[in-house]
Amino acid sequence: MQGNKHELKVLMLDAATGFYRMQRYRVGDFFGPVDMGIHLAFKHNALTIGGGLLAGSIFPGSNRLIFAGISPCWHGFFVSSMGGAALVFDNLGINMLSLIGKAPHPTLLYLNRNHGEEIEVELVPVVPERIWDQGYKGIYAVMEYALHLFCPKYEKDPRILAVGPAARDSDFGAVGSAPVKKGKLTPVDTWAGRGGFGSKLFQEHGLVGIIYGGTQIDEDFRDRAVADLWFQDKFNQKMAAKDLAVTTKYRYDPKFNTGGTFGVNYAAMDGDILAFNYRTIHWSREARRTLHQRFIMDHYLKQFNEETIQTKQQHNCGEPCAAVCKKLHGRFKKDYEPYQTMGPLCGIFDQRAAEKLNHYADRLGFDAISAGGTIAWLMDCLDDGLIETADLGVDQMPRWEMATFDVVGDSMHNAELGIALLNQMILPYGKIPLQFGARKFARRLAREKGREVLDRFVYNAFARQGWMVPSQYWTPGAFSPMAITGKYYMHYGRDFLPPRELGRENARRMLKELMLDNLGICRFHRAWAETLIPDIVENIFGEKEAFLIAINMTASRITSRNASVFWESERNMDMVFTFLKNKKEIDGASHPDLDHWIDFFIRDKHAAAYEFWYEMHKGIHEMLREYPA
Ligand code: SF4
Repeated sequence: MQGNKHELKVLMLDAATGFYRMQRYRVGDFFGPVDMGIHLAFKHNALTIGGGLLAGSIFPGSNRLIFAGISPCWHGFFVSSMGGAALVFDNLGINMLSLIGKAPHPTLLYLNRNHGEEIEVELVPVVPERIWDQGYKGIYAVMEYALHLFCPKYEKDPRILAVGPAARDSDFGAVGSAPVKKGKLTPVDTWAGRGGFGSKLFQEHGLVGIIYGGTQIDEDFRDRAVADLWFQDKFNQKMAAKDLAVTTKYRYDPKFNTGGTFGVNYAAMDGDILAFNYRTIHWSREARRTLHQRFIMDHYLKQFNEETIQTKQQHNCGEPCAAVCKKLHGRFKKDYEPYQTMGPLCGIFDQRAAEKLNHYADRLGFDAISAGGTIAWLMDCLDDGLIETADLGVDQMPRWEMATFDVVGDSMHNAELGIALLNQMILPYGKIPLQFGARKFARRLAREKGREVLDRFVYNAFARQGWMVPSQYWTPGAFSPMAITGKYYMHYGRDFLPPRELGRENARRMLKELMLDNLGICRFHRAWAETLIPDIVENIFGEKEAFLIAINMTASRITSRNASVFWESERNMDMVFTFLKNKKEIDGASHPDLDHWIDFFIRDKHAAAYEFWYEMHKGIHEMLREYPA
């Protein structure tokens, strides 16, 4: 929260010229980086980076750094976020940075503010290839380089946003950042992974990294007694107690004897495991359960529990947070989705192998979920002989044979193949050019090798070229035609909802998630935040009504440009069809609509998929239409 709490300060910076100015907006006209981000994205194609109104306050999880702009891989407006990074950003004494223009040379941006003086802004030309090759390489080397160059200028620890070679060579480069403690980088890297904002920073603004920090002290909300009163009033619990209760999953859940997204999701998924590029959706539940028991419970998860949970290697993202959701093994941080896509989805069920591949992708600065989904798809095509190793510039085949699978050796073999495939994405003249995305590449391969190649690739499509590997949940919500996909702007529960109702539920979820993102609140605290945020905005700013209208208008604005494209891949359709069959045949769900859809899919899969998709689409739009812009 900055200076005058009723105004938002946005530093507008033209990276082409270095020219900058401070723009002020009234809280009430705009509330945060999402509604401001969409305004500036459509006006200037700006990338807006900033914290929420509560950054620096005592509310747990209130320091998420939000990135908002037109995504280079999704091709629509997108929102991505990074844990804890707004806490240091708050010390700059601004709410947001909005970038336009492109620096003539690859550049490092330096932002510093000492004791209320003007913000120092400096653009330092660098040779990224030289930096990426140093020390810990890639994004880690950018952070080290920036620290080495600028750390002495900061009185308090700064933070660095960094991109790697993936930002140069693909449309899905991420932005990575690790908190700095006492001038040293910690191993707790955090990511604005989805949406390709690393590619946007590098390709559209010429930036390799941004180092920022300062000493600005503002009137952030820090009255614990008052906050406790608000929590008591709503939940009959004080703030710390309520927050502790709702973040159990992310810290340690005694129900499963594990913690964090990796631990709890794998412990709870039972037969719903997605492996070998989703081939498991066609297996019997018994076969899936056997795989889950043998490779996950008895090995992959067991290693994680022994090495990470029992040794309590857990940290926060840079802000004081009791959830300590960052689970580590040495310098490897383990989250469910990257260790799923570059884990079981690629035929990897061993921590050493998954660490090797994940760390390599992280160093290069890829969006780990999209990278893993793409690698798994290519391995699937290789394994079934749809394409040759030479087509992809590699010399090994995946080892995906279940009957003889060696959980350590074959996992490592598959991880090494994954690394070889990643290399082909970033090498000059590599065989997997993804400058314009994996969907375009898949189309080319399909033209050369046959339609089946594309039918194996699981992705959501937007407009002509936009693509996104979905979140790793076997549920139709993940494949819904939302205007923003690949994150949790949808209903990902495992219950059956008729598609029209699912669309409406997606829209309701999107409104809640937008509220969190626009205030820079970490969604792991959503169980109290979604209920209390409007009242907090009222109590501090007196603007609850305007805030809720702004969220609804932003959702409508985003959705009015929804150019989602019907599923192009057969496997997307199969994900939904098998989900429906499982619901009835295995979970015993009973619903007349469920029977209708299963019959329809059996009679004519493509026609049923088309109807299902459009029903969700209608539900999304009719729900958001209730909130006209
Ligand atoms: S739950 Fe995790 S990401 Fe969210 S604020 Fe806490 S430590 Fe950071």
